[in-house]
Amino acid sequence: MRLLLLVLGIIPLKADQPNILMILADDMGYGDLGCYGSLQIETPVLDKLAAAGIRCTDGYVCANVCAPSRAGLLTGRHPQRFGFEHNLNKAFPTLPERLGIPVEQKTIADHLKKAGYRTSIIGKWHVGDSVPGMLPNARGFDYFFGMHAGSHHYFPKAENNKLFRNEDPVTEIEHPYLTDLFTHEAIGQMTPAEQPFFCFLSYNTPHTPMQAKEEDLAKFAHLKGKRRQTYAAMQWCMDVNIGRILAHLEKTDQLENTLIVFYSDNGGSVTASHACNAPLNGMKGSFLEGGIRVPFIFHWPKGLPSGATFEHPFSSLDLLPTFIAAAGAPELPHRIKVGKKWQTITDGKNLLPHLRNQNAKPPHEVLFWRMTMRGAAIREGDWKLLVNVHTPPALYNLADDISEQNNLYQKMPEKVANLWLKLNHWQESLEDTPHWQEAPYWQGYNRKLYTHDYWLTQPARDEEYLGIR
Ligand code: CA
Repeated sequence: MRLLLLVLGIIPLKADQPNILMILADDMGYGDLGCYGSLQIETPVLDKLAAAGIRCTDGYVCANVCAPSRAGLLTGRHPQRFGFEHNLNKAFPTLPERLGIPVEQKTIADHLKKAGYRTSIIGKWHVGDSVPGMLPNARGFDYFFGMHAGSHHYFPKAENNKLFRNEDPVTEIEHPYLTDLFTHEAIGQMTPAEQPFFCFLSYNTPHTPMQAKEEDLAKFAHLKGKRRQTYAAMQWCMDVNIGRILAHLEKTDQLENTLIVFYSDNGGSVTASHACNAPLNGMKGSFLEGGIRVPFIFHWPKGLPSGATFEHPFSSLDLLPTFIAAAGAPELPHRIKVGKKWQTITDGKNLLPHLRNQNAKPPHEVLFWRMTMRGAAIREGDWKLLVNVHTPPALYNLADDISEQNNLYQKMPEKVANLWLKLNHWQESLEDTPHWQEAPYWQGYNRKLYTHDYWLTQPARDEEYLGIR
């Protein structure tokens, strides 16, 4: 059978399987790369990567905060389907085996390992560590170097850090700055070999704490405000490090057949780190565009167009089926019947045919988001219905109003009703309820996210930018 499929070209010869490198930034603003309009932050490496690959304008993540976003991208399923709706909350009264991605869920690494890949994750995990079966080495990753939690000091000390190499605490720090250290570790996993690699480089840059190297800070000395200066320096450092990786791939003759995806796990944290999501309104934690739409770059010289812009909406949930297709592994079913009930296996779509043909129909008719107690949203075409628990519901036309300023909810009741029906239908399809809730503090925090006065245009190169006005 395999021979027949090989002959028909349905699965590629092993030598054709691309390496897959997924680079994830953390809390990075939609407007904080040169190629996404930043006038203050230079990112020449990522700009070049986008120019030689595909720059996406309407790429989304499935959640507006770190942990559920990662639970979704790792499983290719809406994390609400397995109760993972909020950031992890160890204070919540629940069983340890329920606090994380349930062990029966398959991850992107499980699938790619089965397809013959060497698998590694470097950096932030943040999808559960309360039972051993939830740790990266038990979730399909051959190699793990990083932290279980959502953030880490950027200057770790040998005697005081929360880093692990596989299951062992790290006792030697080879590079004093975390972004450099993660890059060094990731490059170690990208050696040429018979088996292709899948590396999930999960930087925590530019998540808090705001800490940068002196030489990187010096480059942005013209920026007023220490926090913005630090943010820019952290971004710059990540860009330099991605340049190191590209140079390594080129030197080892792997760049041509490595599928690289770069994006952020959620929108920029405007208040905490002075990220900038302009022209998008809102920030991390909100269902405004600034919370869920992120920079998204694909680069694969052998398999994808160069110099393209992709404008259809899609989701980070699409990466799992996209990688499976690139690996030549069998496609996963969308749904299967378990007893009398249908169960959704994957919410994503293989993006490759869409990325290769700009004229193909959009990969999705609708996209959905929800966080219980915080709100929900649906995007269909250019229309978006936003349901927030603290402010009135809103309808926006993103084609005319990318900054979500003109609420059409009262003016277009039929469109509103249609989107409500679809959103409710999706919510009814979710197989589980939240396994935990977030701490009450976040309710008050959430309310403020929708009332801040965000910058909707990019600050000029030397303009003072303190996040909100
Ligand atoms: Ca994040």
